Amino acid sequence: MESLQRTKLVVFSAKQYDRFYFDIAASKPHGTLCDIEYLDFALSSETASLARGYDAVCIFVNDTLGKDTLTILHANGVRAILLRCAGFNHVDLVAAGELGLFVAHVPAYSPEAVAEFVIALVQTLNRKTHRAFNRVREANFNIEGLIGKKLNGKTVGIVGVGRIGLATARIFSGFGCKMLAYDVYENPDFARYGQFVGLERLLAESDIVSLHCPLTDSTRHLINPEMLSIMKPGALLVNTSRGGLIDSTAVLGSLKSHHLGGLALDVYEAERGLFYKDHSGTIIDDDVLMRLLTFPNVLICSHQGFFTEDALTEIANVTFANLRDFVERRPCPRSLVAGRQTDSSVKVEPVRL
Ligand code: NAD
Repeated sequence: MESLQRTKLVVFSAKQYDRFYFDIAASKPHGTLCDIEYLDFALSSETASLARGYDAVCIFVNDTLGKDTLTILHANGVRAILLRCAGFNHVDLVAAGELGLFVAHVPAYSPEAVAEFVIALVQTLNRKTHRAFNRVREANFNIEGLIGKKLNGKTVGIVGVGRIGLATARIFSGFGCKMLAYDVYENPDFARYGQFVGLERLLAESDIVSLHCPLTDSTRHLINPEMLSIMKPGALLVNTSRGGLIDSTAVLGSLKSHHLGGLALDVYEAERGLFYKDHSGTIIDDDVLMRLLTFPNVLICSHQGFFTEDALTEIANVTFANLRDFVERRPCPRSLVAGRQTDSSVKVEPVRL
């Protein structure tokens, strides 16, 4: 392996856990095709020139790659963009295509991890275990105010029945819930759990609504004042997909008017710059988020649905597989933009797997 010309990869927004799992993946035979540099800050138009000299950049959910950033990366010799996440709404794929960049993502690192996290959020809010935990630690064994509802027999609506939506339906179905779903494409695998209905009917009949569709121009603020008014009074809304699916100000109003019964968020539309960082010693000027945090029936986590050992291992392995496909000029089944190989400055050498 010594004689191989090594591909240079720079990983942006790298946390300690990214380094840990990437280093394990890199220690495997296929990982030795690349030199890795880790940077703990985000990739943006301000930081893109730091990728000079690297063949590939690796980014996460809150690194935004608009046309300006992609142009700087390209001008600095970068030819491959590796997303260590499934969603790709934060990358201008059209611009990447025009520049001839290769873009690949990790489409399904662990649908079950996110689906299981949905259940964790729902049951925490529903059975109030987070409040019980705090009470008991202070020797307060009073259970008043901790009443929940059983899931069995309740109606759950899944919006977007892809990999995660289907895994979520499978688990709720195991609780004995009645399952409804809405999707622009009706996945036949859902038939064993429930039925597809229109979005309005799903919202009107569901006790729990869980969002699993991607963020696109047509799904931005899918949950808006009109849709919230259709929802069953007292229903619980869960979003582990992308923050922009929900109009947060409208949701705040619905909670204040006691129409919406609860809100569980793993994602938030203004999460960029906030999530994945400790702001405990600073003043946060997002009044919507701070007001949401005051409700006893709101639970917010900072985009951690995926955050399992299994998913981090899979993300690292698949990211290297994507890079390997690019370096070896093989068709990559997880590419979002194929890239122009003739334009590539990446040193191509046969790699022993
Ligand atoms: P997927 O592509 O497998 O499924 C998405 C589904 O949404 C598809 O069935 C698609 O037909 C449907 N859809 C598309 N447009 C729609 C619309 N307008 N209305 C209704 N349905 C529509 O995706 P996935 O892997 O299941 O991921 C779902 C979401 O979860 C993505 O947004 C992804 O970014 C997010 N995600 C979050 C985390 C986390 O840690 N919280 C982790 C991974 C993925």
